[in-house]
Amino acid sequence: MKTRLFFGYDFETSNLLRHGGKPIEVAAVLVDIKTGEEIAHFQQYMYLEPGEKMGEEALETHGKTKAWLKKNGVSRKKAFGRIWHWLKKNGVSITTKPEHAGQLIQVGQNIALFDSIFLKEWAKEAGYEKPFMNVFTRRYYDTMYVAQFINDVYIKAYGYGAHLFKVPETGHPSPSLEHQAIVLGEDVTKAHGALWDARTAMKCHLQHIATHADILTRADTNWTENKNIADPAATEGVYCPHCAAWMSSDTSFHQKYSCIMCANTFYIQEG
Ligand SMILES: [Zn+2]
Repeated sequence: MKTRLFFGYDFETSNLLRHGGKPIEVAAVLVDIKTGEEIAHFQQYMYLEPGEKMGEEALETHGKTKAWLKKNGVSRKKAFGRIWHWLKKNGVSITTKPEHAGQLIQVGQNIALFDSIFLKEWAKEAGYEKPFMNVFTRRYYDTMYVAQFINDVYIKAYGYGAHLFKVPETGHPSPSLEHQAIVLGEDVTKAHGALWDARTAMKCHLQHIATHADILTRADTNWTENKNIADPAATEGVYCPHCAAWMSSDTSFHQKYSCIMCANTFYIQEG
């Protein structure tokens, strides 16, 4: 088994998937799970094919017209070939073999309901869904979901108003990428595209690990369908907050763990 890496990513699209949306930009970062260092990054614009429309709301969000994309982008198939090559160059083996399953852990903002679906559709359209999706772990980290989870825990523990990610003007909880980034001290006033979003979500994720590891061991709703990786749901245990490996255990809480996959240690405080 090769070393696992975090795969932080983000798509800009022409519309929602149910309205025929297509990816127009993809950005990704590969990050060492042990050091949190960025190993490599990827960014690519994609043009829309004749007949495919740019949604009005999407255009307002990213400001990229069909004509601009035609000039600055490549076809979706070509872009997919490029990210495939980029991953291989960085040591990721892309096949359908079980021994190549779970090399990358998906990380991103709102990926559960948005980007992970576009990622799969993109691979499917290119004709490589099975080998491409095999490189990902079953578990992934949606920073929006985790931030929401952290807010909920704070509210429960300290009462309303003490949550970590909140809108300064109103004091209301918000798991948006911007509000997580504000907590990190990031400058959110600059214009940002897919690469900023992918990188910032990754920083948020690393921060979640550093401060709320015990929450990450149990915030377990985010799954991909990798049949080459067993579903651990039937056994007692916890997830390593660093590498997402499942560790069987009969005593789940108030215990120090040492991960056999990544050798990181973490402590679970809450019952
Ligand atoms: Zn681990």
